[in-house]
Order: sequence, then structure tokens, then C-alpha cells
Amino acid sequence: MQTCDLILAARWVAPVDGRQRLIENGAVAIDGGRIAAVDSQAAISAQWEARKRVDRPSALLTPGFINAHTHAAMALFRGIADDLPLDTWLNQHIWPLEAQHVTPDFVRDGTRLAMAEMLRGGITCFNDMYFFPDVVAEAVIEARMRASIGLIVIDFPTVWADDPDGYLKKAVAVYDSHARHPLVSCQFAPHSPYAVSEETLARVRVQADQLDIGVHTHLHETAAEVANHVADRDERPFSQLDRQGFVNQTLLAAHMVHIDEDEIARAGASGMSVVHCPESNLKLASGMAPVTALVEAGVNVALGTDGAASNNDLSLLGEMRTAALLAKAQSGNARSLPAETVLEMATINGARALGIDADTGSLEAGKWADMACIELDRPHTTPCPDPLSTLVYAAGNGDVSDVWVAGRAVLEQRKLVTIDEDAVLARARDWAARFGTQNTA
Ligand SMILES: [Zn+2]
Repeated sequence: MQTCDLILAARWVAPVDGRQRLIENGAVAIDGGRIAAVDSQAAISAQWEARKRVDRPSALLTPGFINAHTHAAMALFRGIADDLPLDTWLNQHIWPLEAQHVTPDFVRDGTRLAMAEMLRGGITCFNDMYFFPDVVAEAVIEARMRASIGLIVIDFPTVWADDPDGYLKKAVAVYDSHARHPLVSCQFAPHSPYAVSEETLARVRVQADQLDIGVHTHLHETAAEVANHVADRDERPFSQLDRQGFVNQTLLAAHMVHIDEDEIARAGASGMSVVHCPESNLKLASGMAPVTALVEAGVNVALGTDGAASNNDLSLLGEMRTAALLAKAQSGNARSLPAETVLEMATINGARALGIDADTGSLEAGKWADMACIELDRPHTTPCPDPLSTLVYAAGNGDVSDVWVAGRAVLEQRKLVTIDEDAVLARARDWAARFGTQNTA
């Protein structure tokens, strides 16, 4: 017998390891925060003796979900400028509000609100792009969640920095102080080719190579973004990034809604990742990314919620269902994006996009024990002949009972362990009282 810290036993375990779809009456042995073994309960009990055991006899255990594109602190702007197209929403509402209100306190309170919501929905890791990334990293470590922190770069002055020199200097400082923490990794986050000049992007390329980190950006989100770029520079944004050496396995491009066949093939050959954000794209009427074609071309497609101001929630269970349903309607093929594929998009593909798949994204020995437990015994999830289908097509955030990050419980029997939820909600209401409503619809 070997000893371990914890054994989690569940009615079903979905390892998302590319080999076993589902283990009935499965269990995971955890030691030192990492997964020691994944197998049937009988096999685990025969080999492992645990200091603690948790039984969830009507639940499905999955890898923690990875929200591969978000702006966590924007949770405070939830519902503030609804039913507007992206250019109006961004230029006339969001950017002016950010200039007026965003401070380190705003980012801390907003990130805590977002983390409370995400942990309740089974999300163990998020890929962030926002101002004051140092404050985001501190909030993540405090909540014992996992995140990839975006080292944001924009060409115009904001509350975070005045000019490209300032952004780049601060990016390296944030990297130096946080990137070695086991819960934190970093990516360069030039906002988009429309908000960052070619000259600044060239400097980002050099710095990202020096730090050996990935690059996270918005790309081809709207038709107008692509048309304006072509009108101004006689080149599509994707082509510009390719020419500048960005299109490779270290690139994580959010959206990629308006892309042509050549771009899909080039994306597939390059090893880059695309973050599909179907609900944000639908709400801002940006369009629908050709996900089925991207997957067929071999692109690593992950899932993201985008910020709560354009969604309006941070639910990866919601994105999984929307992605699956949308792909079927879009391709005219009901077999497109089955439940198993969207679960991969929400877990291991997100880890791959962030370059952390050796450490998380699936339930395999050696990885951190980042896990979500979803109870499937309620009226809307019963009967349950196929738990993966039930997860994607019927379950919701309220069904997530427990979440562990690196083997530590952060949601336990539907109670947040590391976040004072009442305090976080009170602070969020205080902030909202200062904004007023921006809705014109
Ligand atoms: Zn975004």
C-alpha cells in the first residue's frame, strides 16, 4: 500500500486524457497537490491508503475548466452597456468608463468577484488580459486559484501606462515578480493589431522571445476590424501578425470570427491556438467563428467567456453548450462538436493554449489536482445515460459542488473556501452605484 493525502471517489470520472472517455465508479488519488493515480475505486482502494477520503456517489469528476480568454475585473461592468455593437460598446462606453474608474482597488474587487463566479462554475484557471496585472496575480494567489496573467500592451495612454515604453517596462516587472509562483504563469497580451502599432508589436515579439512566453491577443473579432485594417494598411491583421513572426504555437488568438480558408489552413499548420468565445461574439453581433473548420484543420481550439460586460456571465458550462449548439446549426451537421470535444476545448485545449498542459488540463498522474465535481442527480440531469452529454447539454453552474486547485478545496459543498463572498458582493454593489446605467436600448 502507498499512502496519499486524499482520495476522491465519484460515480463517474472523465480524465480527458485522450484514452479513457469515462471511468464508472472512479477515483483519484492525490498527494502533495498532484495527482498520484486515476483508476476505478476498486483499483485505487487496493493500492492507496489516504489520510482523507471524499465520496461523491452521484457526481461526475472532471478536470477543472480553463477560461482561456477573459478580462476578469470587468465583472464589475456586468450589464452596464448592453445591446450595442462592439465599436460603440468599446469606444463610447467601456474605454471611457475604464479611464474614469479603473484603479488597483477596482481590479482587486472585480477580479475577486469574477473568481467567486468562476470557481462556482468549476473553472480552476483563467487567462486574463487587463490593467494592473500585478493586482490580478496577487488576487489569484490569495484565492488559491490558477491564472495566466496577461502582460497588457496598448499604444494609447491608459490608467496602467502612458506609452509603449511604460507598458513594456511594467510587463517585465510583473513577469519578474510573479511568474515563478506555482499558481501563476504569464503571457504577453498586446490588446489587438488595431490598438497596438506594428512598431510596438515588433518590440513585443522581441520581449516575448526573451522571456520565452506566449502571446495572447484579440484577432479578427469583427468584419469592420478587418476591413479598416485593410483600408489603412493594405493588409489583413492575421497576415501582418504572420509577417511579424507571431503565427506559431506560442500564439493564442481570441475570436478569429472573420477568417478565410487560407487563414484557417495557415492557422492549422502553424500550431497556434484559437479561443472561441461564442456568447460574446453572439451578444456583440460580431459573428460566428468557423469552429468546425478550425478543428478539422487541426487548430487547437479552446473556450473563453470574454469579459462579463459582453457575455454577461463567466460560465464555461454555458460556453460549452452554446459552442456545441452553434456549431451544429452553423455546419448543418448534428455530429459537429460532440460533448466530448467541447469538454476537451474547455480543459486540455485551454491548458495547451496557455502552455501549461504538462501541469494541468486533464486528470493524469503527475499533473496538479485541478478538478471540478458536478452533481448529476437533480431533475434536470436525471436520467443520465451519458454523463458527458448531460454535463454539456443539461448541467449548469449550480450543479458544481466542489472544486480543487492543486489538491486544495476552494469550493466545498457549494461554499467558497478562499473568498469571502458576502464581502465581495457588497463591494461590487458599491462600485455599481458609482457607474450609473449606460444602456441606451
Ligand atoms: Zn476580449
